[in-house]
Amino acid sequence: MRNFDAPTLVVVDAYVLALLGALLLVSAFQGQREKALLFTAFGALLSAFGLLLSLLRTDPDLNAFAVAASNAVLILSHAMVWAAFRAFSRHRQRPAWMLAGSLTWIVLSLWPLFQDSAAVRIGFYSVLCDAYLGLALWEVWRLRRQSAFGVLPALVVLGLQMLFYLYRMVVERVPPILGVDQSGFALTMFESILFAISLSFVILMMVRERAERQFRHAALHDDLTGLHNRRAFFARAAGVLAKTRSRRRDAVVLMCDLDWFKRINDECGHVAGDRVLAMFGDALRELVEPGDLCARIGGEEFVILAPEMDLDQGAALGDRIRGRLAEQSTEVLGCLSVSIGIASAADADYDLDRLLMRADEALYGAKAAGRDCVMAWTGPAERPAVSLSSVAGGGGGRLA
Ligand code: GH3
Ligand code: MG
Ligand code: MG
Repeated sequence: MRNFDAPTLVVVDAYVLALLGALLLVSAFQGQREKALLFTAFGALLSAFGLLLSLLRTDPDLNAFAVAASNAVLILSHAMVWAAFRAFSRHRQRPAWMLAGSLTWIVLSLWPLFQDSAAVRIGFYSVLCDAYLGLALWEVWRLRRQSAFGVLPALVVLGLQMLFYLYRMVVERVPPILGVDQSGFALTMFESILFAISLSFVILMMVRERAERQFRHAALHDDLTGLHNRRAFFARAAGVLAKTRSRRRDAVVLMCDLDWFKRINDECGHVAGDRVLAMFGDALRELVEPGDLCARIGGEEFVILAPEMDLDQGAALGDRIRGRLAEQSTEVLGCLSVSIGIASAADADYDLDRLLMRADEALYGAKAAGRDCVMAWTGPAERPAVSLSSVAGGGGGRLA
């Protein structure tokens, strides 16, 4: 590295940082606009600009200006790292604090000792940059519970960069002892590229991971009630049943359908209908056990797969659900009620299609019996049933 002169190193460094900034800018505008990437891009572009400004130091007349301006811009690029993590955390930006480091630097540049001593300048520069990196580190630390994947690498990258500035402060303040010369400058240039690349990679990783988690959540949840959706239910139900079977326990399915729901929409409007659905979702969330699988599988149809329950316990849960919905009745909405059909997994030989079909038949029976009641499937009957999931099953059911 000693074979390259300082301006060449600066130009190469600025070129890489500008390229990185441009690429980050493009990815910031892709898909969901992600401000964290935007600030990281600004940070890289400012670093490139600050480095190019430092080339003015080759002109003695411009040296003082170049020292003040280039380092102020480079300090601002560190403030952008802090801003990027604040943006990622959805925290409000603090523009005054973002500019404070650079302004401090400009004010310090008027101090004669500061102009004369490289060691003092390096000391202040390192402290100001470390302050922003420390703030960024604090933002990441607060994220540790949310973003499992990217937090540790981000802490490592920021922590190492802080250590590097501390090292630089110690080493370059006492060159004769540690024998650092021009290679210290080359190391700084090389290290700044490494930092910018690893930071960009880490932020991209965090942004992607969070987007993936949000898409996954949206794909598996119903946005009106917050419960699992049909896809999530069918993806998990077979596994829950297999586990129940292996433990030789029973499980029940409760198939719930709100009564006369069309009337609520027709008389009170769709918004009121949506509110009732959300309310019912809240009630289910409160009443089911943490291990139960609870989903909205149709417009006003909900299903609960409750492991560790038998038919009697399932019927009791059904009654609690009915009672809770009845409490939500108002003069405007009228009497709210739900019909519930239940079936036992052990009776259905732990076959999901058969189980759902039986619960559906029991629900049909509850509707036929006048609604607002819970019915259990207890044996074969005349009426044929229709499968809820894609694989067709057979059998009729007698209702109790
Ligand atoms: P039953 O007692 O026989 O179940 O009668 P019902 O009126 O509840 O059943 P029906 O199948 O005739 O009507 C269901 C209604 O649910 C029709 C549809 O407009 C409404 N619905 C489905 N999804 C939504 C939704 O997301 N929001 C609202 N507001 N209404 C919905
Ligand atoms: Mg229905
Ligand atoms: Mg209905």
